[in-house]
Order: sequence, then structure tokens, then C-alpha cells
Amino acid sequence: MNNCKTMPEAKRLETLDYSILQQCMHCGMCLPTCPTYDETGLERNSPRGRISLMRAIADGQLELTPAFGEEMYYCLGCLACTTACPAGVDYADLFENARADIEDAQILDTKERRFWRWLAVKTIFMRPRLLRAIGRVMWLYQSSGLQALLRRIGAFRLLPRNLRELEPMAPRIQRSFSDGLIAREEVPAEPPRFRVGMLTGCVQDLAFSDVNRDTVDVLLANGCSVVTPRCQACCGSLHGHNGETALAEELARRAIDQFDLDEVDAIISNAGGCGSHLKHYGRLLKNDPDYAAKAAIWDSKLKDIHEWLDEIGLAPPPALPEPMTVTYHDSCHLCHGQGVSRQPRDLLKAVPNLTLKPLAESSWCCGSAGVYNITQPEQAGKLQKRKVANILQTAAPNVATANPGCHLQLQTGLRIEGSDTIVHHPVSILARAYRNR
Ligand code: SF4
Ligand code: SF4
Repeated sequence: MNNCKTMPEAKRLETLDYSILQQCMHCGMCLPTCPTYDETGLERNSPRGRISLMRAIADGQLELTPAFGEEMYYCLGCLACTTACPAGVDYADLFENARADIEDAQILDTKERRFWRWLAVKTIFMRPRLLRAIGRVMWLYQSSGLQALLRRIGAFRLLPRNLRELEPMAPRIQRSFSDGLIAREEVPAEPPRFRVGMLTGCVQDLAFSDVNRDTVDVLLANGCSVVTPRCQACCGSLHGHNGETALAEELARRAIDQFDLDEVDAIISNAGGCGSHLKHYGRLLKNDPDYAAKAAIWDSKLKDIHEWLDEIGLAPPPALPEPMTVTYHDSCHLCHGQGVSRQPRDLLKAVPNLTLKPLAESSWCCGSAGVYNITQPEQAGKLQKRKVANILQTAAPNVATANPGCHLQLQTGLRIEGSDTIVHHPVSILARAYRNR
């Protein structure tokens, strides 16, 4: 235990099941897979180094300091280290507990940081109606031509640097959100084989409601009837990954309450980052007597769309109307967080008239990593450049990826490089094929 009573306490790390911290045997096999270690070559910027720091804090040998906080926010949370680790260290659990301690102890607190966290994490992303209202205003601003005009006359130069850098990353908002495109319940033409629940997400709903529509179309084509609750809230991954555990728990309860879990065979997520968090509601709510059992059922039914289609056996898609060459980028949280990397490739390969080109370093983080491209723009920019260079190397005019953050990061990076390469969600390609029936 930490004997220094005046220093902030690391309550979660100190009370965490110690065997998780002990699991690391310092073999270093995770080191070559870690983008931050690759950048600096410093042990403290590696998974092994970070685990040692967490263990030292749990042992009371180190104090919870701003330097530790900054280290934990320099980590992308990409979980490439988890895939590489032969000892099965649950880095995601350690990392989330460390960040929660950092937020509880307020060791990184500044007025500005407090304001942005209050506005985004604690207010906008807790209130789905408010988020959608902001989305409507943004859509008007973008579709009226005001955004283009302000860009043309260089008005954004007047903004403070951090806001100026954020502007090009703003997603293009869809005219209609998921509730306008998807009915509460949709049934396939043939008698359904399965009944599934559909998660529409928050950013996904604003910027990629068309992908949600495509997902439902693909599910219908595969014999699933689809239940889609209205005005869904954020799944809480933003909160869980950023140390706001209580808010993440509240959002998990809300998500569970949307469904009658006995009535669905699966709950479908099409966003890699969200799915990785959604599959661990059981861990998040394990101490909640009213929700622990429901959360365990939820986890067992939560499926990534590619995983689900692979499990039920994909209905052979018709050929695309024209030949298409695609390369595939793995979303970290789909590939490392959920272990889903073969399935999206297999689904794409099953589409006649589609050629899938391999992408070098396909599971290397693109720098999006939740809000990392906002909080650590320099490192995120380097990873974005590296990813885009690999994509351009393939000469494929299309790239597929299954996470809204990656989608936007690739889109922005390709635009910066002046490339016409188009970013798609794999299910959108599948939906296009089914529509060609
Ligand atoms: S999560 Fe990613 S950035 Fe963080 S330690 Fe693991 S590999 Fe490195
Ligand atoms: S690969 Fe696993 S056991 Fe080896 S150093 Fe990294 S985290 Fe520790």
C-alpha cells in the first residue's frame, strides 16, 4: 500500500486482482508490436514498461504522478500488445483501471481539460438527443456551403490552434440518422432463421447511418429479422477508455435495458471500437447485483457483424455490378480487442467481382484510437501518414475498414495526400452486392 497519505491514491490499481499484474513475465514479445515504443525506443513507452509502472504503483513503490498520467495517455490503447502476449496479460483491464485512477486523482487536471471533458464526455456523449441536435446543426452548416466558404476564405486561421487542427477532422454528417433509415423491426422476405438486435452507435449514427442501413440489409439478406431500438446512446467505450468508469457503467445499463435479451439470438455491433467495449459489460457491471447476470448474457450474445455472418454462414452474395479492387485495414479493437481479422477478409473474398489486395502492416494502428488524434495529434499524425503510405502502396482504389474512427482517420489522411482512394465499411460492399441480385 502507498504510505504517503498526502499523495493521490491509486485505489483501483492497488485493489486490482494482483495476479493480472503478475502475469507479465517481461519477455518483451509485445515490444515490436507497440507503436509508441516503435516511435521512441524507450522502455517506459512500451507495454512491458507501462505494466511495470502500474505494478510499482500497486506496490506503493511509485506515486501516482502527472508523468505517470501522461504516459498512460500516450499509450494508444490499441491492444496490439495483447495479441502478441504469450502470457495472456489483460492489458485492456490494466489500462482502463490506470486511467480511472488518474481521473479520480485529478492529477492531469487543468481548467481547459476539465471543461472539454465536462462538455464532451460528461454531457454531449451522455445525452443522445443533444448529440443528435448538434449533429443536425452540423449537417446544416456543412450542407449549406457555410463550411466550404469559411474554409475558402481561411476563416479557421482565426481559431485557437487546437480548434483549428480539429476542424478538418470533423466528420461529414448524414442527412438522415439511423432512426430515419431503419424501422424499429424489419423482417426478411423469407421466414427468418434468427432474430437479432442492432446497435446504431453515436458517432456511427451521425456520420455513418448509411453503414447502419447497409448492415440491416445484409442481415435481412442472411435471414435475420432485426430489432433496432430508437435514439440509442453511446455504448460507453469513450468513457471506459478515458477513466470515467461510473459513466461507462450507467451507459452499459441503459444499453442492456433497450433489449429483451431472451428474445434475440444476437446483438450486432458494426463498429470495432464499440464492439470491443460492448463485449465486456459483464466485467464492468460485475459488482452490480441488478445487472451482473444480465450483463453476462449480454456479453455472450454480443457479436461483431463479420463474426456473426461467419458464424451463421454467409448467404452467397451476387456479383458486384462492376469489378472492385479493395485492400483491408484492421481496426485495432476489432482485430486485437475482439480477435476478428479473418472474418472480414473472408466476407470480402466471398463477393464475386472483388479483388482483395493485402495491406502491409494492416493491423498497425492508424492513429485514430478513440480520441487519440485529438489528444495526441502529433503521434496520431505520424501513424496516419504511415498507414496512408501503406494503402497507397497497394494501388487499390478502395480500402475497407470496420470502425468509424479508423474510417475518418483514413479518409482525412488520404485527402491530405491528394488521393482519390475511397474508404468503405466491408458490409457496405456486401450490401451493394446483395442489392445487385
Ligand atoms: S495498447 Fe498499443 S500503444 Fe499501448 S502499450 Fe499496448 S501496443 Fe503499446
Ligand atoms: S508479451 Fe506479455 S508477458 Fe511479455 S513483456 Fe509483454 S506483456 Fe509482459
